[in-house]
Amino acid sequence: MQRRTKIVATLGPSTDDPKVLDAMIQAGVDVVRLNFSHGSAEEHKKRAEAVRNRARAHGRQVGVFVDLQGPKIRIDRFKEGKVELKEGERFILDAALDPDSGTVERVGIAYKALVDDVNRGDTLLLDDGAVVLWVEEVKGSEIDTRVVVGGTLSNNKGINRQGGGLSATAITDKDRADIKVAAEMQADYIAVSFPRHANDIHEARDLLRKAGGHGGIVAKIERAEAMNALEEIIEATDAVMIARGDLGVEIGDAELPAVQKRIIRVARSMDRVTITATQMMQSMIESPIPTRAEVFDVANAVIDGTDAVMLSAETATGKHVAKVIEAMDRICRGAETQRMDNAAERRSAMHFKAIDEAIAKAAMYTANHTGVKAIAALTESGATPLWMSRISSGIPIYALTRHVETRRKVTLYRGVYPVSFDVTTTDHAQVNREAIDELMRRGAVRDGDLVIITKGDLMGVHGGSNAMKIIRVGEHVVNVE
Ligand code: PGA
Ligand code: MN
Repeated sequence: MQRRTKIVATLGPSTDDPKVLDAMIQAGVDVVRLNFSHGSAEEHKKRAEAVRNRARAHGRQVGVFVDLQGPKIRIDRFKEGKVELKEGERFILDAALDPDSGTVERVGIAYKALVDDVNRGDTLLLDDGAVVLWVEEVKGSEIDTRVVVGGTLSNNKGINRQGGGLSATAITDKDRADIKVAAEMQADYIAVSFPRHANDIHEARDLLRKAGGHGGIVAKIERAEAMNALEEIIEATDAVMIARGDLGVEIGDAELPAVQKRIIRVARSMDRVTITATQMMQSMIESPIPTRAEVFDVANAVIDGTDAVMLSAETATGKHVAKVIEAMDRICRGAETQRMDNAAERRSAMHFKAIDEAIAKAAMYTANHTGVKAIAALTESGATPLWMSRISSGIPIYALTRHVETRRKVTLYRGVYPVSFDVTTTDHAQVNREAIDELMRRGAVRDGDLVIITKGDLMGVHGGSNAMKIIRVGEHVVNVE
């Protein structure tokens, strides 16, 4: 069986070696993430190009995912690079301090508006919660705090406010420039960091389209506020990332498991794609094997119904790039033999918004109850296979399309596999046979198996799927219209 859950892996210094890239592709990476918090535009362009070249050499399709940096809510730097903060001591965050002159008493802040956003009694979490500060007073440019949890604090660490509420806008000037870069490199997905409401997503999409980009938008759910606007954000976006790193700091780690399940459930029911991210295989940055807890984390995300699981530092700067992808692949396959927790979707009361949606979902219902071996969706935009993949099933969905953008976009959809197939140059009467031949070449079906093919009367037209055929392989596969 092919793996259905998709693997997103972040590129970085550890993946620049062409041998490592080849090993990643062989191990089954589906989408690569370019983290725009680090590195130059040139570096990212080079990496995207290298991946696409190697993917082509392997006859594979790999999606390219640009992750925008978003607002830099960070401290500045220390004279000595770092300080040791002790519990109970005073520590000042000073918006007026020179950026390179932090000491054990005070440090500058890159995010100047912090002084307007916080009040006495607030808890600030630095470095993903490794250091905790309690705000005693805000006066002028200074935030006076008391160290609640001490430890080492080094340059440029992130700041979160417990409960959320920092006013920083999601899309910065750097992000605007980077969206143009993403359009130039024809990124398949662009992620907005720290969105607070649906407008942040609309804005990113407008900017991307104006720059000529075709990619889908990913909303990273990583702020407390985003949880209050979850449905409107999901409605506005193509995909959501459960960004457990920042989100866990803002809402508390104990809330995360329930929130992960809720986001996946809501997103699937709204026909959106989900990525579960951060620390999934953290120990494998150093270690050649995952911890048992990591095995369970990846497996549980699969059982929750996520489309994709993501690797960050595990691949970008890790020591075992191919091994971590292989381990994830193995764990996903194992977990996919279990029933999905969200499988009992109540869809009977649902009203289909479009004819192609009705066809897609009817095809899945039929497939799940008829012993069909594979589904071939002849598609232009990828909408039909997306709808299909929202229904839980063990049956592979092949997205047959002439558009390379569509083949790359579906790399993120659970259970969907891209196939290059041009309906406009295929003899109309032979389309069914050719589609089935494609599936046979891939070993997906054999003589005697049942397959479902969905397509439109006017092939090559967006949103045109209006027909579903159930065909037994080897029998009358020629169109009889
Ligand atoms: P990041 O986002 O890795 O860009 O911070 C993911 C997260 O916060 O979990
Ligand atoms: Mn984050």
